[in-house]
Amino acid sequence: MNHQVIIIGGGLAGLVCAFYLKRANVDVKLFEASANTGGKIASQQVGGERFDVGPNTVLESNESIARLIDDLHLRERMIFADAASNARFVLKHGAPVVMPASPQTFLTTPLFSGLAKLRLLREPFIGISAREETLAEFCERRFGREVLDYALDPFLIGTYAARAGDLSADACLKLLRELEQAHGSVIKGFFKRAKENRGVKKNYSGKMFSFEHGFSEVMTSLRNELGQAVLTEAQVNTLEATGQPANGVRVRYTHQGDTFEASASTVVIAAQADSAAYLIEGVDVKLAATLRQIKSSPVAQVFLVYDRNEVASPQGFGLLVPSKEQQEILGVVFNSRIFPARYQQTVFTVFIGGSRQPELARQTDDDLKSLAGRGLAATLGITAQPIDAAVAKWPDAIPQYGLGYNHILQTVSDFESHTKNIFFTGNWRSGISVPDTIAHAHTVAEKILNALIND
Ligand SMILES: Cc1cc2nc3c(=O)[nH]c(=O)nc-3n(C[C@H](O)[C@H](O)[C@H](O)COP(=O)(O)OP(=O)(O)OC[C@H]3O[C@@H](n4cnc5c(N)ncnc54)[C@H](O)[C@@H]3O)c2cc1C
Repeated sequence: MNHQVIIIGGGLAGLVCAFYLKRANVDVKLFEASANTGGKIASQQVGGERFDVGPNTVLESNESIARLIDDLHLRERMIFADAASNARFVLKHGAPVVMPASPQTFLTTPLFSGLAKLRLLREPFIGISAREETLAEFCERRFGREVLDYALDPFLIGTYAARAGDLSADACLKLLRELEQAHGSVIKGFFKRAKENRGVKKNYSGKMFSFEHGFSEVMTSLRNELGQAVLTEAQVNTLEATGQPANGVRVRYTHQGDTFEASASTVVIAAQADSAAYLIEGVDVKLAATLRQIKSSPVAQVFLVYDRNEVASPQGFGLLVPSKEQQEILGVVFNSRIFPARYQQTVFTVFIGGSRQPELARQTDDDLKSLAGRGLAATLGITAQPIDAAVAKWPDAIPQYGLGYNHILQTVSDFESHTKNIFFTGNWRSGISVPDTIAHAHTVAEKILNALIND
């Protein structure tokens, strides 16, 4: 049988899935609605500096990302985060405080009060909760209010751009829930696990990295590898199941004003959850309704370039702003400190909005630039004028893994197992980070390849 696979969506997930299928000589066609592939990942020149649009910092934290870098022959081009960027800051009472990185520094940090530190000693004696909790409930119950306010809250702002009360502990921090269930205590489980893993060799560096031209080098490389298999400005509008094994799925798409049809034995929907819901409507109305439950938070990124003679790069990785501090910004990444070789001047990326203040992310570019400037003044005392600034807006930046999320994922998996020729991938499936998104897309490609071998 002649197998063709259609991939809908040319972000990271779609490109990775298509790359591994094409490498295995499968006939692949990828449709991307916008003019460029890459989705949330791109780069932009601002004031003579090249900024990462979307992810600023990526960890080589699993085998799939390590393998992708090797398969694209990009390992030689990797650059790693400077040691001077190790410290992470959290704003407390208007001033940046270093986040403790070890049990010793936790004991001496001014980030938490003596009472909060004592409260942590009680964690091993707190009972297990059987019901699904929000991350706020889970954290407050096990670790106390201050750890929620000044550790978890800023961490979630820096990853999900979300509030702890909106996210599911089971779906977002699976590991902590598993440690609680298995050991009766997250802290005890954490130390046991660290002991067990000591000396275990990993096939990935675990380091934060980028490339000279930013992480978008991966996207460019994937696009080049895929060549004619990619069609941009091709918005898929409908999808239907034909019931025929060879051409089991038919899509209709618009390209340069005209409508076309294409069919394939398998389709991978690598679009954001709301687009995926729209696309699957014609095949399964209930699944579409389930996918519509997935909400996303909006984020605006403001890229700022300062004369290095006027503003020095602060030591450290960046600053996260807890909700309690009631500031207008979510946080700042110190780009020129993390990857000094990439920049001539002092360069920051300021994050605004999230589910904490969604309305702020929707302001005009000029208002966002002013707000970012005010934010840097209020948190880091930077009052100089930037040489240049630019804005990127993401109305649906990060999917929110809310209560009941694992049930949504199970419904999707059941659908895939049942239909066998329509799959979903993307950052809403198995983790929002770049490495997790790559790993899931890779798994989907392997699942399809295995099915083809056994056909
Ligand atoms: C501001 C921001 C900062 C981030 N920072 C980090 C970070 O520092 N580290 C990290 O690891 N991760 C980070 N992430 C997360 C990471 O970038 C994303 O999770 C990942 O890039 C998502 O890839 P994706 O392919 O799942 O989705 P997307 O990039 O959203 O791609 C989906 C694609 O599908 C296309 N599409 C949708 N519908 C259709 C249709 N009907 N027809 C054709 N095409 C369609 C869209 O145009 C889009 O190109 C960040 C994300 C954002 C937004």
